[in-house]
Amino acid sequence: MHDSETVFEIDRLVSSLVVVGGGAVGCEYASIFTALGVRVTLVDAGERLLPFLDREISELLAETFRGMGMRLLLGSGRALVERDERGLKVRLPSGEEIRPDKVLFASGRAGNTEGLGLGEAGVEVDERNRIVVDDSYRTTAEEIYAAGDVIGAPGLASVSMEQGRVAACYALGIPFKKTVDPMPPFGVYSIPETAMVGVTEEAAASKGIDYEVGRGWFADNSRATIAGGTDGLVKLVFKRDDRKLLGVHILGDLAAELVHQGQAALHHGGTIDYFIHTTFNVPTESDAYKYAAYDGLQRLQARSTT
Ligand SMILES: Cc1cc2nc3c(=O)[nH]c(=O)nc-3n(C[C@H](O)[C@H](O)[C@H](O)COP(=O)(O)OP(=O)(O)OC[C@H]3O[C@@H](n4cnc5c(N)ncnc54)[C@H](O)[C@@H]3O)c2cc1C
Repeated sequence: MHDSETVFEIDRLVSSLVVVGGGAVGCEYASIFTALGVRVTLVDAGERLLPFLDREISELLAETFRGMGMRLLLGSGRALVERDERGLKVRLPSGEEIRPDKVLFASGRAGNTEGLGLGEAGVEVDERNRIVVDDSYRTTAEEIYAAGDVIGAPGLASVSMEQGRVAACYALGIPFKKTVDPMPPFGVYSIPETAMVGVTEEAAASKGIDYEVGRGWFADNSRATIAGGTDGLVKLVFKRDDRKLLGVHILGDLAAELVHQGQAALHHGGTIDYFIHTTFNVPTESDAYKYAAYDGLQRLQARSTT
């Protein structure tokens, strides 16, 4: 049984692996081992992978994983991992028993704050042992600041570093950086990669926003075709009335890089017209933004004529 720290101790390719957890770490390792030819079963109590992603992207990712040969048991209930004389056994509420060579537990992590004597130092933690901080990342103790996973979500290296920079500025009185970007991107380095920034289609719908989407498929993109990475798409979510961009969702090669173009437009209050009017290098995967924007325009047009 391994976790994301000890997984590196696996020194040869096993023939079968059960990954418990369909979050970022679970998806990354499950797809890497599948690509290496290991028979992987990914088990998650939830109904879908990476539930914070746009549903369409999450479902396409699952479909791609299945196409690679991964077995997905979603909504499977809580998996019980045991060891007996025959080795590891994973029991599922359905009654199914799996006997993999290895199990990778990727079902969440917690801050290592116990035993630090935080209480004695006057540093308050919440009910989940996360350190409580204010907007300047100062804890309840005057001279003590905290940043990163120990203060809770989103649990990203990118955001943790930003928090650390802001905390350092406040602690040392440097007037350089006072806030952390409230809309960070998320990147998951699975095969294929996925990334997002801003609002998902479901969130737009649940907020009652009058939105539209546009999709630029990598199957229609010249660079993706040349590179042989035609699985995936760039999906834009935008407001119907003023075409203001609300969210960008990408599945496919270099998604974590590509998302930054959408992020720049989003942070500057841009509309999908930016992608229409700007010339992109060809061939590039970025060009999928342009096709996503055209698709969005066509959908607007179709809706207004029906
Ligand atoms: C497998 C995996 C993949 C990830 N991939 C990504 C990714 O692609 N992109 C991304 O943005 N984020 C990713 N993350 C999340 C990212 O690693 C964390 O959000 C980030 O490392 C948090 O930084 P941190 O400084 O808060 O904590 P950490 O990086 O965990 O650093 C805390 C350090 O404190 C040390 N420490 C702990 N307790 C004590 C103690 N009592 N005394 C002294 N030292 C102590 C630890 O040993 C550690 O070195 C990933 C996480 C995992 C597990």
